[in-house]
Amino acid sequence: MDSKTDTQWPPEQLDVKTFARDAAQLTGQAPLSAWERLSEEAQPGLQAPAVRWSAQGELKVQAGTPDEVWLHLQVHAALPLLCQRCLTPVLTPVEVDRSFRFVADEATAMALDDEAQEDLLVLSREFNVLELVEDEVILAMPLVPFHEVCPAPLPMSAADPLFEQAQEERPNPFAALARLKVGRSS
Ligand SMILES: [Zn+2]
Repeated sequence: MDSKTDTQWPPEQLDVKTFARDAAQLTGQAPLSAWERLSEEAQPGLQAPAVRWSAQGELKVQAGTPDEVWLHLQVHAALPLLCQRCLTPVLTPVEVDRSFRFVADEATAMALDDEAQEDLLVLSREFNVLELVEDEVILAMPLVPFHEVCPAPLPMSAADPLFEQAQEERPNPFAALARLKVGRSS
């Protein structure tokens, strides 16, 4: 991971509160192969660009209320996913632009979860931004990726018995993610 240039803010062990207080910014990029979980989603056969991300800290100060610790995250990625129309890889752009508020502990996050509009995370002195980047890219992946225009004639037609067999046997790699999305509070 491209973190050697910034020793003050190690992205894998970020002191989030200090980062927010200093209104600090952190950027990085790494090839797709460096992200273990994203690599698992990627289809072979297409070159993917590096995953680029940036994080901005913010301390929101309001009179009469405790200071709020925020992290704004942006990610630009493009993943080779399987086109659900022609079943060949399609380079699919995935953009993330989210803000997170950090609270003291898990109990606070649970208590606030229903009323809070924003995403809540638990404050840490060793917060792993890279893990968050990967989480968010996975959540932002389209459930049904497909080419705008598929590159080749469809290899199989619905009249082909092999096609129906393939449809039945093909597990849905996005089913688990769909559940994850539904369960997510936002
Ligand atoms: Zn296609």
